[in-house]
Amino acid sequence: MSRARLASNQGQDISASAFEKETHGEVVCFWCRCRVKGVRAYSKTVGNEIIIVPAYFSLWPNVQHSDNCRFNIEETVKRFVANSQVIRRIGPNAVPILSKVAQGQAAEFRLHILMEALQKQTYGFGALRRRSPQNKREEEPLGHEYIRTDEVLKPYFRTAKGILALAARIQSHQDLSDWIRLKFGDRRITWDEFLFDSDGYHALYNVLLAERTRASNARYPRPVALVARIFKESSAQEFNGEFRLIGTNRVIVTPAGPLAIRPVFYFRDQQLAEDKRSEEFLLVCGLPKLSDIKPPIKLGLNPRVDVSIKIVDPRQICRYTLK
Ligand SMILES: [Zn+2]
Repeated sequence: MSRARLASNQGQDISASAFEKETHGEVVCFWCRCRVKGVRAYSKTVGNEIIIVPAYFSLWPNVQHSDNCRFNIEETVKRFVANSQVIRRIGPNAVPILSKVAQGQAAEFRLHILMEALQKQTYGFGALRRRSPQNKREEEPLGHEYIRTDEVLKPYFRTAKGILALAARIQSHQDLSDWIRLKFGDRRITWDEFLFDSDGYHALYNVLLAERTRASNARYPRPVALVARIFKESSAQEFNGEFRLIGTNRVIVTPAGPLAIRPVFYFRDQQLAEDKRSEEFLLVCGLPKLSDIKPPIKLGLNPRVDVSIKIVDPRQICRYTLK
């Protein structure tokens, strides 16, 4: 959490970066008023980079958020699971995108359903038919069997957006993976291989490179949730009939030298693109495409690759604030 309330004056809130225990005293959860503590900003080394982790508020040991608190993951996941089951009223054979795992507490978020939904919206159904028969699996359908109508798509996107918003609030890969397992066809994906914040661009690049080599046996592209800082001068430029927002580059160090990773989002809807321009950070979920490496446009700059995501539904995006 980036904000909390002063215990002495609950009408007043404070950001984690400004919080000083000596000055402000005890603090409580912004939403449910349970006790929290301030954790100062610190630096860590990721690969060759030094990353600053901004200050945040965390729970004291043995303290829980209240049942209806936005920061209570368990209760939020239970609610999502219940909402996700509503799909059966629309289509009796439709499969919920989020389901409780048999015995445990954790729920399973079926990424491939979301991915199919996105792919249908992005490319139409043609792209799905390329699948070769030997890829067909008995145990669980991997594909468009889930998607019956546009009516079914909406609740899928709604659940996905809820999970995205929860992930934006919680941010901790460990806390998220304790409650939500990501399933992708017959594979399991961990949160740190799905959700990439701006510290995670190196890992993102590696994951996308690995997907590219796997692409020869015509697997579906794999979805990611990507945090981008929207480039301030970025306007929603028209580009081949779509509207483009650009994120700021992050330079990573590869064996071949430094490489700038640039997030690019393509919108069908100009108004949506304009609306999102003013956000500082966006968390965007979609099917990423990795461009070829482009040489530096002028001396002193690094070669660059674009990671682009098409936005076909506003529920692919949510606001993100640094913890
Ligand atoms: Zn709380």
